[in-house]
Amino acid sequence: MRTQVAIIGAGPAGLLLGQLLHIYGIDTVILERQTPDYVLGRIRAGLLEEGTVSLLQEAGAGARALREGLVHQGVEIAFNGERHRIDMHAATGKTLMIYGQTEVTRDLMAARAAAGLTTVYQAADVLPRDFDSDKPRISYVKDGVTQEIACDFIAGCDGFHGVSRASVPETAIRTFERVYPFGWLGILSETPPVSHELIYTNHARGFSLCTMRSMHRSRYYLQCSLEDHVDQWPDERFWDELKRRIDAKAVAQLVTGPSIEKSIAPLRSFVAEPMRFGRMFLAGDAAHIVPPTGAKGLNLAASDVHYLSRALRQFYDEKSAAGIDAYSETALSRVWKAVRFSWWMTSMLHKFPDTGEFGARIQLAELDYLVNSKAASASLSENYVGLPF
Ligand SMILES: Cc1cc2nc3c(=O)[nH]c(=O)nc-3n(C[C@H](O)[C@H](O)[C@H](O)COP(=O)(O)OP(=O)(O)OC[C@H]3O[C@@H](n4cnc5c(N)ncnc54)[C@H](O)[C@@H]3O)c2cc1C
Repeated sequence: MRTQVAIIGAGPAGLLLGQLLHIYGIDTVILERQTPDYVLGRIRAGLLEEGTVSLLQEAGAGARALREGLVHQGVEIAFNGERHRIDMHAATGKTLMIYGQTEVTRDLMAARAAAGLTTVYQAADVLPRDFDSDKPRISYVKDGVTQEIACDFIAGCDGFHGVSRASVPETAIRTFERVYPFGWLGILSETPPVSHELIYTNHARGFSLCTMRSMHRSRYYLQCSLEDHVDQWPDERFWDELKRRIDAKAVAQLVTGPSIEKSIAPLRSFVAEPMRFGRMFLAGDAAHIVPPTGAKGLNLAASDVHYLSRALRQFYDEKSAAGIDAYSETALSRVWKAVRFSWWMTSMLHKFPDTGEFGARIQLAELDYLVNSKAASASLSENYVGLPF
């Protein structure tokens, strides 16, 4: 098989890149280790920046998001038992959209299928090869038979545990990492959200977040210990703990119900530099991870894909390598700003085991400043709605 751009991974980054390149007349094949159902079963991000929604439109996969997504103009931040609203639309003129990653993936998969483009699911032992030459290729095993794709470029969109970054020689890559001493226990329930906007809470018992996927499906998170297991958290214990952390009005409005998904995610900041190795590019979680506090993971995957798709279009249409030469630096400049913002949100809102009462007082002072200073609220808003790309 031969294609122009071979993409590893059919998550949001790989699928979005495939759609945009298709629109630009560039041929792609996607190799995905899992089945489509497995990919769709992963409950992850849910908050889209305007730039991400625009890219979905451009990719021909945004109509349902526009119809069904919930548009938000602000968030609420709670501490000392009181909620404070940050009006992000007033500060930036921009809005956010609640639309689950599962739905984004479903729409992109449908668009790819409608365009008749090739995705090889359940591709095993995927291995990018010769990406330091001008004849890169990928080998993989499908139904027990080893196959190979020759291509012009490889896009490593295979997430944090993927093979693309792992195939780069250690001497060619530099990584930066911060692992946080806690995780997020999340549940999904078929209940109306406690409020029409997100509520982030800093509490002496630990952070909590009330969010949603729709007006009848809620997502709640609790900061938990890294030693915790999901089976130690039956639904009743989860709801009881959430009620201890959220404000009294939210407790009164909270509708509880059986969880339909429950998982624990560790929190990590991670960046790999550079994001280009010869004729292989990394995009999305393959290159960087942020703690979910700033809702940036999926949106960063989208901005990487924006830069990469335009760079590849420039290469094919204008015979210019300027875009692909600048890709890593351009993408990393935005990535690091989102990494900083996500780290800052995480630091301000969580209970840290090692900073004691002093750390807790500093957090409260910062939160008080944040909700009472127009400049501080505007800075939060500007980053939260997404820096331009
Ligand atoms: C539990 C969890 C909760 C999250 N919650 C949020 C949130 O609330 N908000 C937010 O913004 N972000 C969140 N994120 C982050 C967000 O989901 C990711 O940033 C986003 O999925 C990145 O998309 P991606 O396409 O780069 O990677 P992925 O979604 O990881 O997709 C990579 C794809 O590559 C495939 N793959 C991997 N290895 C191989 C291989 N060797 N061969 C072929 N295919 C391979 C995988 O199966 C997968 O389908 C969360 C992440 C996790 C894990």
